[in-house]
Amino acid sequence: MAEVTIKNSPNLESPVIPNLLTGETKIQFRCHKEIKCFNACCSNIDITLTPYDIIRLKNRLDLDSSTFLKDFTIPFEFEKDGIAGVKLMPVESGTACRFMVDEGCSVYEDRPTACRYYPVGLVSMRKQDEYTDTSSYARVEEDHCLGHQEERQLTINEYRQEQGVEEYDEYARGWRQLILKKKSSGATIGKPTKTSRRLFFMTCYDIDRFRIFVASEGFQNSFDVAEERMAKALTDDVELMQFGFDLMKQVLFGEESIGLKPGILDERIEKERQKEEARRQQVESCGNSADREPVDL
Ligand code: SF4
Ligand code: SF4
Repeated sequence: MAEVTIKNSPNLESPVIPNLLTGETKIQFRCHKEIKCFNACCSNIDITLTPYDIIRLKNRLDLDSSTFLKDFTIPFEFEKDGIAGVKLMPVESGTACRFMVDEGCSVYEDRPTACRYYPVGLVSMRKQDEYTDTSSYARVEEDHCLGHQEERQLTINEYRQEQGVEEYDEYARGWRQLILKKKSSGATIGKPTKTSRRLFFMTCYDIDRFRIFVASEGFQNSFDVAEERMAKALTDDVELMQFGFDLMKQVLFGEESIGLKPGILDERIEKERQKEEARRQQVESCGNSADREPVDL
C-alpha cells in the first residue's frame, strides 16, 4: 500500500500520479471482497500513523499506548534529528500488515487514515511559518490494484465521506500543522532539542504516558489550565491529544498557547536570560555565532 505523506512541496514519487487534485475531482474506483486483488494492497505496507489512528487502534486492541507502540509500530524521523513519526509494523520478516486476515482487515472500523484514503493520498502544504495548511489530493495507481478498472465514478470528497476519513482528518489537523510548520521553518527556529523531541513523541503518540505527565504535580503546578478543560483532557483521549497539540506549539515554537501559573513566567524569563548570557559568553570565547533554540519545558 503506497502512501502519500505530508509534503511541503509537491514533489511526488511514483506510483503517485503527479497531479494535485481537488475534492471535486472524479476518480474511477471500487474495492470489494470479490475483486481478484483482494488484500494485495495490505501485503506490502508503508503506513504512517496519525495520533488519532493510534488512539483508535490501541483502544480497539484494548492496549495502553506504550504497549501498542512497542508491539505494533516502528518510529522514524520526518527529517534527520527532527521530530518523529511512527509507522505500522509489518509481520515479522515480511511486508504484510499484521491486521490482514483472509476476510480482509481485522480492524476495519478502526483502520488508519492512510488505509481509508487509499488509492487517494492527502497532500498537505503550507507557507513558511504559518499554521494554516491547504489540502490537495493525489491519485496512487499501483499495478496490482484492479479497483481502478471497476465501473464506478465518484468525487474524492464522496470517497472521503464513504471511507469515514473526514473525522480522521479533523483530528489529525493539529499534528499535521505542527509537522508542517517545523519542516518549513527549518533554520529560522532551529532543530528541536532532544527534550522537545521526546516530549513531542510522548504527547502525539504515547497518549497514556502523556496523561500521567499532565496529571503530575510538576505539570499541574506549572500550567494554568481551566478546570473543565483539564478534567476533560484527563478523561478523554481525544481531548488530551488536542491539548497536547497546543502544548507542543508552546514547546516547539514558543507560542503562549497554554497559560502558565503566576511566577512560572518570571522563572522562565530568568532561565532564558541566563541561557542567553551563557550563549553570549560562549560566542565571545569561540568567536562563533550560536543558533537560537526553542524554549524547553
Ligand atoms: S490496517 Fe487493515 S486496511 Fe490497513 S493495511 Fe492493515 S489490514 Fe490493510
Ligand atoms: S482493489 Fe486495490 S484497494 Fe482494493 S483490495 Fe485490490 S489492491 Fe486493495
